[in-house]
Amino acid sequence: MDASILIVGEASFSNQLLKRVRGLSAMTVWSADSADVALASLEKHLPELVVLQATASENWTLCKSIRQQWHPLWVYCIWLDHGSDTADLTPHQVLQRQAQRTSKAMEVGGDTYLWWPVQQASPRASPQLQEDPGLGRIMQAHIRAGLQRVQAYRDLSQTNDLLSAIALSDALTELGNRRALDWELPREIQSTRKLEQPLSLLILDIDFFKSVNDRHGHLVGDQVLQMVAERLRHNMRFYETPFRYGGEEFVILLKNTSLEEGERVGERLRQLMDNNPFVIDAELDLSLTVSIGVATLQPNDDEAGMTLLGRADRNLLKAKATGRNRVVVSSVDPSV
Ligand code: GH3
Ligand code: MG
Ligand code: MG
Repeated sequence: MDASILIVGEASFSNQLLKRVRGLSAMTVWSADSADVALASLEKHLPELVVLQATASENWTLCKSIRQQWHPLWVYCIWLDHGSDTADLTPHQVLQRQAQRTSKAMEVGGDTYLWWPVQQASPRASPQLQEDPGLGRIMQAHIRAGLQRVQAYRDLSQTNDLLSAIALSDALTELGNRRALDWELPREIQSTRKLEQPLSLLILDIDFFKSVNDRHGHLVGDQVLQMVAERLRHNMRFYETPFRYGGEEFVILLKNTSLEEGERVGERLRQLMDNNPFVIDAELDLSLTVSIGVATLQPNDDEAGMTLLGRADRNLLKAKATGRNRVVVSSVDPSV
Protein backbone atom coordinates (compact mmCIF):
# COMPACT_ATOMS: atom_id res chain seq x y z
CA MET A 1 0.00 0.00 0.00
CA ASP A 2 1.71 3.18 -1.20
CA ALA A 3 0.04 5.85 0.90
CA SER A 4 0.58 8.25 3.73
CA ILE A 5 -1.06 8.88 7.07
CA LEU A 6 -0.94 11.88 9.33
CA ILE A 7 -1.35 11.29 13.05
CA VAL A 8 -2.43 14.32 15.05
CA GLY A 9 -2.06 14.16 18.81
CA GLU A 10 0.33 14.02 21.76
CA ALA A 11 3.61 12.13 21.34
CA SER A 12 2.40 9.25 23.56
CA PHE A 13 -0.75 8.92 21.41
CA SER A 14 1.25 8.86 18.17
CA ASN A 15 3.72 6.31 19.55
CA GLN A 16 1.02 3.92 20.67
CA LEU A 17 -0.72 4.20 17.33
CA LEU A 18 2.51 3.62 15.42
CA LYS A 19 2.94 0.33 17.29
CA ARG A 20 -0.54 -0.70 16.13
CA VAL A 21 -0.12 0.12 12.47
CA ARG A 22 3.30 -1.45 12.07
CA GLY A 23 1.71 -4.29 10.11
CA LEU A 24 0.77 -1.94 7.25
CA SER A 25 3.75 -1.85 4.94
CA ALA A 26 4.75 0.75 2.31
CA MET A 27 3.05 3.54 4.19
CA THR A 28 4.62 6.83 5.14
CA VAL A 29 3.51 8.07 8.54
CA TRP A 30 3.76 11.73 9.56
CA SER A 31 2.87 13.06 12.95
CA ALA A 32 1.86 16.48 14.23
CA ASP A 33 1.42 17.56 17.82
CA SER A 34 -0.76 20.61 17.08
CA ALA A 35 -3.47 21.67 14.64
CA ASP A 36 -1.19 24.28 12.99
CA VAL A 37 1.58 21.76 12.36
CA ALA A 38 -1.07 19.35 11.06
CA LEU A 39 -2.48 21.87 8.54
CA ALA A 40 1.01 22.67 7.22
CA SER A 41 1.75 18.96 6.91
CA LEU A 42 -1.56 18.37 5.08
CA GLU A 43 -0.67 21.04 2.50
CA LYS A 44 2.80 19.62 2.03
CA HIS A 45 2.27 15.86 2.05
CA LEU A 46 -1.39 15.51 1.01
CA PRO A 47 -1.85 12.37 3.12
CA GLU A 48 -4.73 10.07 2.25
CA LEU A 49 -5.64 9.52 5.85
CA VAL A 50 -5.65 11.52 9.07
CA VAL A 51 -5.93 9.98 12.52
CA LEU A 52 -7.07 12.47 15.13
CA GLN A 53 -6.73 12.13 18.89
CA ALA A 54 -10.26 12.60 20.24
CA THR A 55 -9.13 13.88 23.64
CA ALA A 56 -7.21 16.83 22.08
CA SER A 57 -9.83 19.59 21.98
CA GLU A 58 -8.28 21.64 19.13
CA ASN A 59 -8.65 18.63 16.82
CA TRP A 60 -12.42 19.23 16.56
CA THR A 61 -11.80 22.56 14.83
CA LEU A 62 -9.00 21.01 12.79
CA CYS A 63 -11.35 18.33 11.43
CA LYS A 64 -13.84 21.05 10.40
CA SER A 65 -11.10 23.03 8.61
CA ILE A 66 -9.95 19.91 6.75
CA ARG A 67 -13.50 19.44 5.47
CA GLN A 68 -13.81 23.09 4.49
CA GLN A 69 -10.49 23.08 2.67
CA TRP A 70 -10.76 19.78 0.79
CA HIS A 71 -13.54 17.74 -0.73
CA PRO A 72 -14.97 15.34 1.90
CA LEU A 73 -13.66 12.36 -0.05
CA TRP A 74 -10.14 13.69 -0.53
CA VAL A 75 -8.93 12.81 2.99
CA TYR A 76 -10.28 10.06 5.25
CA CYS A 77 -10.54 11.14 8.90
CA ILE A 78 -10.43 8.59 11.69
CA TRP A 79 -11.15 9.74 15.21
CA LEU A 80 -9.37 7.69 17.79
CA ASP A 81 -10.36 7.86 21.42
CA HIS A 82 -8.08 6.17 23.88
CA GLY A 83 -10.25 7.31 26.77
CA SER A 84 -7.37 8.80 28.77
CA ASP A 85 -9.79 11.22 30.48
CA THR A 86 -12.25 8.56 31.60
CA ALA A 87 -10.23 6.83 34.33
CA ASP A 88 -12.44 8.14 37.14
CA LEU A 89 -15.76 7.52 35.44
CA THR A 90 -18.23 4.71 36.07
CA PRO A 91 -18.87 2.31 33.16
CA HIS A 92 -22.20 4.07 32.54
CA GLN A 93 -20.51 7.47 32.41
CA VAL A 94 -17.84 6.08 30.09
CA LEU A 95 -20.56 4.91 27.68
CA GLN A 96 -22.18 8.36 27.82
CA ARG A 97 -18.86 10.07 27.10
CA GLN A 98 -18.27 7.66 24.22
CA ALA A 99 -21.71 8.38 22.70
CA GLN A 100 -21.19 12.13 23.04
CA ARG A 101 -17.83 12.07 21.31
CA THR A 102 -18.95 9.69 18.54
CA SER A 103 -21.77 12.02 17.52
CA LYS A 104 -19.52 15.08 17.74
CA ALA A 105 -16.85 13.34 15.61
CA MET A 106 -19.41 12.70 12.88
CA GLU A 107 -20.81 16.24 13.10
CA VAL A 108 -17.42 17.83 12.45
CA GLY A 109 -16.85 15.61 9.41
CA GLY A 110 -15.10 12.49 10.73
CA ASP A 111 -15.46 9.34 8.66
CA THR A 112 -15.19 6.94 11.55
CA TYR A 113 -14.78 6.97 15.32
CA LEU A 114 -12.89 4.30 17.21
CA TRP A 115 -12.90 3.72 20.90
CA TRP A 116 -9.42 2.41 21.59
CA PRO A 117 -8.79 2.33 25.34
CA VAL A 118 -5.33 2.08 26.85
CA GLN A 119 -4.21 0.40 30.05
CA GLN A 120 -5.53 2.46 32.95
CA ALA A 121 -3.58 2.99 36.17
CA SER A 122 -6.62 3.83 38.26
CA PRO A 123 -8.17 1.03 40.31
CA ARG A 124 -11.65 2.35 39.28
CA ALA A 125 -10.89 1.78 35.62
CA SER A 126 -13.64 0.06 33.70
CA PRO A 127 -12.91 -3.44 32.40
CA GLN A 128 -13.79 -2.01 28.95
CA LEU A 129 -10.73 0.16 29.12
CA GLN A 130 -8.27 -2.71 29.29
CA GLU A 131 -6.01 -2.96 26.27
CA ASP A 132 -7.15 -5.50 23.73
CA PRO A 133 -4.82 -6.72 20.97
CA GLY A 134 -7.87 -7.20 18.71
CA LEU A 135 -8.23 -3.43 18.54
CA GLY A 136 -4.97 -3.20 16.62
CA ARG A 137 -6.52 -5.34 13.92
CA ILE A 138 -9.70 -3.24 13.88
CA MET A 139 -7.60 -0.10 13.53
CA GLN A 140 -5.69 -1.62 10.62
CA ALA A 141 -8.94 -2.65 8.93
CA HIS A 142 -10.27 0.91 9.20
CA ILE A 143 -7.04 2.33 7.81
CA ARG A 144 -7.16 -0.08 4.84
CA ALA A 145 -10.81 0.71 4.10
CA GLY A 146 -10.14 4.47 4.34
CA LEU A 147 -7.13 4.31 2.05
CA GLN A 148 -9.02 2.30 -0.55
CA ARG A 149 -11.84 4.83 -0.56
CA VAL A 150 -9.56 7.84 -0.87
CA GLN A 151 -7.44 6.23 -3.58
CA ALA A 152 -10.53 5.31 -5.61
CA TYR A 153 -11.80 8.88 -5.24
CA ARG A 154 -8.47 10.44 -6.24
CA ASP A 155 -8.23 8.18 -9.34
CA LEU A 156 -11.77 9.16 -10.27
CA SER A 157 -11.12 12.87 -9.90
CA GLN A 158 -7.98 12.59 -12.06
CA THR A 159 -10.06 10.94 -14.79
CA ASN A 160 -12.66 13.67 -14.34
CA ASP A 161 -10.05 16.41 -14.76
CA LEU A 162 -8.80 14.75 -17.92
CA LEU A 163 -12.32 14.43 -19.35
CA SER A 164 -13.09 18.08 -18.54
CA ALA A 165 -9.86 19.15 -20.25
CA ILE A 166 -10.84 17.12 -23.34
CA ALA A 167 -14.40 18.48 -23.32
CA LEU A 168 -13.23 22.10 -23.09
CA SER A 169 -10.38 21.94 -25.57
CA ASP A 170 -10.48 22.23 -29.36
CA ALA A 171 -8.88 19.10 -30.83
CA LEU A 172 -7.27 20.86 -33.84
CA THR A 173 -5.74 23.94 -32.20
CA GLU A 174 -5.68 22.84 -28.53
CA LEU A 175 -7.15 26.22 -27.56
CA GLY A 176 -10.22 26.43 -25.32
CA ASN A 177 -13.33 25.73 -27.43
CA ARG A 178 -16.74 27.42 -27.58
CA ARG A 179 -17.91 25.44 -24.55
CA ALA A 180 -14.89 26.69 -22.59
CA LEU A 181 -15.74 30.28 -23.55
CA ASP A 182 -19.39 29.77 -22.53
CA TRP A 183 -18.10 28.57 -19.16
CA GLU A 184 -15.43 31.24 -18.73
CA LEU A 185 -17.19 34.38 -19.97
CA PRO A 186 -19.92 34.65 -17.29
CA ARG A 187 -17.33 33.98 -14.58
CA GLU A 188 -15.03 36.62 -15.99
CA ILE A 189 -17.88 39.15 -16.19
CA GLN A 190 -18.81 38.45 -12.59
CA SER A 191 -15.27 38.86 -11.26
CA THR A 192 -14.54 41.92 -13.42
CA ARG A 193 -17.66 43.64 -12.00
CA LYS A 194 -16.70 42.72 -8.48
CA LEU A 195 -13.19 44.12 -8.97
CA GLU A 196 -14.59 47.14 -10.85
CA GLN A 197 -12.14 46.63 -13.68
CA PRO A 198 -12.73 46.90 -17.45
CA LEU A 199 -13.13 43.74 -19.56
CA SER A 200 -12.73 43.71 -23.33
CA LEU A 201 -13.45 41.03 -25.86
CA LEU A 202 -12.05 40.62 -29.32
CA ILE A 203 -13.36 38.46 -32.20
CA LEU A 204 -10.86 37.64 -34.92
CA ASP A 205 -11.84 36.06 -38.25
CA ILE A 206 -9.45 34.98 -41.01
CA ASP A 207 -10.16 36.83 -44.27
CA PHE A 208 -11.10 34.75 -47.32
CA PHE A 209 -10.21 31.54 -45.52
CA LYS A 210 -12.52 29.50 -47.73
CA SER A 211 -10.23 30.22 -50.66
CA VAL A 212 -7.29 28.63 -48.74
CA ASN A 213 -9.28 25.41 -48.51
CA ASP A 214 -10.48 25.70 -52.09
CA ARG A 215 -7.00 26.31 -53.54
CA HIS A 216 -4.77 24.22 -51.29
CA GLY A 217 -7.08 21.69 -49.66
CA HIS A 218 -8.48 21.25 -46.15
CA LEU A 219 -5.26 19.86 -44.69
CA VAL A 220 -3.44 23.10 -45.51
CA GLY A 221 -6.47 24.99 -44.13
CA ASP A 222 -6.12 22.98 -40.91
CA GLN A 223 -2.41 23.81 -40.73
CA VAL A 224 -3.19 27.52 -41.10
CA LEU A 225 -5.70 27.31 -38.24
CA GLN A 226 -3.08 25.64 -36.06
CA MET A 227 -0.53 28.33 -36.96
CA VAL A 228 -2.97 31.15 -36.18
CA ALA A 229 -3.71 29.52 -32.80
CA GLU A 230 0.02 29.16 -32.13
CA ARG A 231 0.63 32.84 -32.90
CA LEU A 232 -2.24 33.84 -30.60
CA ARG A 233 -0.95 31.63 -27.80
CA HIS A 234 2.57 33.03 -28.05
CA ASN A 235 1.56 36.65 -28.30
CA MET A 236 -0.84 36.86 -25.41
CA ARG A 237 -0.12 38.23 -21.98
CA PHE A 238 -1.13 36.01 -19.06
CA TYR A 239 -4.44 37.84 -18.64
CA GLU A 240 -5.43 37.42 -22.27
CA THR A 241 -7.09 34.10 -23.09
CA PRO A 242 -7.73 32.92 -26.66
CA PHE A 243 -10.51 30.49 -27.61
CA ARG A 244 -11.45 28.89 -30.93
CA TYR A 245 -15.00 30.18 -31.24
CA GLY A 246 -15.95 28.49 -34.50
CA GLY A 247 -14.43 27.43 -37.84
CA GLU A 248 -11.90 30.21 -38.52
CA GLU A 249 -13.03 32.55 -35.78
CA PHE A 250 -11.23 33.14 -32.51
CA VAL A 251 -12.32 35.03 -29.40
CA ILE A 252 -9.84 36.60 -27.01
CA LEU A 253 -10.86 37.69 -23.52
CA LEU A 254 -8.86 40.67 -22.34
CA LYS A 255 -9.03 40.99 -18.58
CA ASN A 256 -8.54 44.39 -16.96
CA THR A 257 -8.34 45.97 -20.43
CA SER A 258 -10.09 49.14 -21.61
CA LEU A 259 -11.51 49.64 -25.11
CA GLU A 260 -8.45 51.70 -26.17
CA GLU A 261 -6.04 49.03 -24.93
CA GLY A 262 -8.24 46.38 -26.56
CA GLU A 263 -7.96 48.21 -29.86
CA ARG A 264 -4.17 48.27 -29.47
CA VAL A 265 -4.10 44.51 -28.81
CA GLY A 266 -6.31 43.99 -31.88
CA GLU A 267 -3.97 46.10 -34.03
CA ARG A 268 -0.93 44.17 -32.73
CA LEU A 269 -2.58 40.87 -33.71
CA ARG A 270 -3.72 42.19 -37.09
CA GLN A 271 -0.15 43.21 -37.93
CA LEU A 272 1.24 39.94 -36.59
CA MET A 273 -0.85 38.00 -39.13
CA ASP A 274 -0.44 40.50 -42.00
CA ASN A 275 3.34 40.96 -41.71
CA ASN A 276 4.34 37.32 -41.32
CA PRO A 277 3.40 34.92 -44.13
CA PHE A 278 2.31 31.42 -43.10
CA VAL A 279 5.05 29.06 -44.24
CA ILE A 280 3.40 25.74 -45.06
CA ASP A 281 6.40 24.08 -46.70
CA ALA A 282 9.40 24.89 -48.91
CA GLU A 283 7.11 25.67 -51.83
CA LEU A 284 4.15 27.29 -50.17
CA ASP A 285 3.89 30.55 -48.20
CA LEU A 286 0.48 32.05 -47.65
CA SER A 287 -0.16 35.72 -47.05
CA LEU A 288 -3.27 36.02 -44.94
CA THR A 289 -5.02 38.80 -43.13
CA VAL A 290 -7.58 38.91 -40.34
CA SER A 291 -10.49 41.19 -39.44
CA ILE A 292 -11.16 41.99 -35.81
CA GLY A 293 -14.11 43.34 -33.83
CA VAL A 294 -13.55 44.67 -30.28
CA ALA A 295 -16.06 45.55 -27.55
CA THR A 296 -15.84 46.41 -23.85
CA LEU A 297 -18.20 45.34 -21.09
CA GLN A 298 -20.86 47.94 -20.27
CA PRO A 299 -22.92 48.18 -17.05
CA ASN A 300 -26.11 47.13 -18.88
CA ASP A 301 -24.56 44.05 -20.54
CA ASP A 302 -26.09 40.71 -19.54
CA GLU A 303 -24.31 38.34 -17.15
CA ALA A 304 -23.76 35.61 -19.75
CA GLY A 305 -21.89 37.96 -22.09
CA MET A 306 -24.32 37.67 -25.02
CA THR A 307 -24.67 41.41 -25.64
CA LEU A 308 -20.91 41.90 -25.29
CA LEU A 309 -20.25 39.12 -27.83
CA GLY A 310 -22.98 40.52 -30.07
CA ARG A 311 -21.32 43.97 -30.13
CA ALA A 312 -17.88 42.55 -30.89
CA ASP A 313 -19.45 40.44 -33.66
CA ARG A 314 -21.20 43.48 -35.19
CA ASN A 315 -17.84 45.27 -35.18
CA LEU A 316 -16.29 42.29 -36.95
CA LEU A 317 -19.00 42.47 -39.62
CA LYS A 318 -18.21 46.18 -40.05
CA ALA A 319 -14.52 45.33 -40.47
CA LYS A 320 -15.45 42.80 -43.16
CA ALA A 321 -17.83 45.22 -44.89
CA THR A 322 -15.32 48.07 -44.93
CA GLY A 323 -12.50 46.19 -46.64
CA ARG A 324 -11.20 43.50 -44.20
CA ASN A 325 -7.68 43.45 -42.65
CA ARG A 326 -8.78 45.98 -40.02
CA VAL A 327 -9.82 46.43 -36.40
CA VAL A 328 -13.20 47.98 -35.56
CA VAL A 329 -14.08 49.02 -32.00
CA SER A 330 -17.46 50.05 -30.57
CA SER A 331 -18.34 53.70 -30.83
CA VAL A 332 -18.98 55.67 -27.62
CA ASP A 333 -22.65 54.63 -27.65
CA PRO A 334 -22.42 50.90 -26.79
CA SER A 335 -25.70 50.09 -28.54
CA VAL A 336 -24.32 51.11 -31.95
P1 GH3 B 1 -14.55 36.17 -44.86
O1 GH3 B 1 -13.38 36.98 -45.25
O2 GH3 B 1 -15.84 36.84 -45.15
O3 GH3 B 1 -14.46 35.70 -43.47
O4 GH3 B 1 -14.53 34.88 -45.80
P2 GH3 B 1 -14.15 33.42 -45.42
O5 GH3 B 1 -13.90 32.65 -46.66
O6 GH3 B 1 -13.06 33.40 -44.43
O7 GH3 B 1 -15.45 32.96 -44.65
P3 GH3 B 1 -16.50 31.84 -44.91
O8 GH3 B 1 -17.40 31.87 -43.72
O9 GH3 B 1 -17.14 31.96 -46.27
O10 GH3 B 1 -15.67 30.50 -44.88
C1 GH3 B 1 -15.11 29.98 -43.76
C2 GH3 B 1 -14.50 28.67 -44.13
O11 GH3 B 1 -13.80 28.06 -43.02
C3 GH3 B 1 -15.51 27.65 -44.59
C4 GH3 B 1 -15.12 26.36 -43.92
O12 GH3 B 1 -14.98 25.31 -44.79
C5 GH3 B 1 -13.78 26.70 -43.30
N1 GH3 B 1 -13.52 25.94 -42.09
C6 GH3 B 1 -14.24 25.94 -40.95
N2 GH3 B 1 -13.69 25.09 -40.04
C7 GH3 B 1 -12.60 24.54 -40.63
C8 GH3 B 1 -11.63 23.58 -40.20
O13 GH3 B 1 -11.64 23.07 -39.08
N3 GH3 B 1 -10.66 23.26 -41.09
C9 GH3 B 1 -10.61 23.80 -42.34
N4 GH3 B 1 -9.63 23.43 -43.15
N5 GH3 B 1 -11.52 24.68 -42.77
C10 GH3 B 1 -12.51 25.06 -41.94
MG1 MG C 1 -13.34 34.31 -42.51
MG1 MG D 1 -16.07 33.24 -40.21
